[in-house]
Amino acid sequence: MSTSPPAEGPRPADGPSSPAVGQMLLVSGPSGTGKSTVCKLLGEDPRVQFSISATTRPPRPGEVDGREYHFVSKERFRELIREGAFIEHAEVYGNMYGTLRAPMEDAIAAGNIYLVEIDVQGALQLMALDVPGLYVFIAPPDFETLRRRLAGRGTETPEILERRLRKAEDEYRERVKYDHVIVNDDLDRAVAELRRITGLEERA
Ligand code: ADP
Ligand code: 5GP
Repeated sequence: MSTSPPAEGPRPADGPSSPAVGQMLLVSGPSGTGKSTVCKLLGEDPRVQFSISATTRPPRPGEVDGREYHFVSKERFRELIREGAFIEHAEVYGNMYGTLRAPMEDAIAAGNIYLVEIDVQGALQLMALDVPGLYVFIAPPDFETLRRRLAGRGTETPEILERRLRKAEDEYRERVKYDHVIVNDDLDRAVAELRRITGLEERA
């Protein structure tokens, strides 16, 4: 099994990338399409390692340092930027967030899947930086289903739900930029498809 990361270069517009473990797997898509549900199931495989970002945002109740995020001071975050520790970083609602380089490199070198679950904006940033990996867009079966799932999750006010649905339509247009689009109709089928395209199934 190769332990080197895949070569950099343009990704095929719609063709499959070579199935292999030891790579970044980026999972993205509009809010409510099932990214975290799918990623949680995929993460049951011990060869899958979740990316944990660093942030200057204070932890919310129940959040644990090193589990949801690495919580750091603004000063430490600036130091990490200077050290080149981030692949990308951004300010969101006044707080800084960044994807750390070293854990990704270590996971890939160890032959694992480094799973980055990120919103569409963040995914486009990583594509623009030519970060090698498999870019997967999780699509809703249709927008009515997406509305039902978002409403059913019960985490959004009606106003935010409408805003997210409008944003989802814009984000949906970006799916053509990804290596794969997985329609999350049946959860088990969607996870199985992800396992297949990452090579996890083949090497089970
Ligand atoms: P995201 O992380 O993309 O915002 P979630 O994983 O929170 O989305 O999923 C949104 C809601 O849809 C959750 O309530 C989840 O249980 C549900 N859900 C996810 N995938 C499916 C599926 N294949 N079929 C039915 N419901 C699903
Ligand atoms: P929250 O504070 O609610 O956990 O996250 C707020 C926003 O920050 C979300 O939109 C999330 O996608 C984004 N975010 C989390 N980690 C990162 C990261 O490492 N880089 C970037 N660019 N955005 C991130």
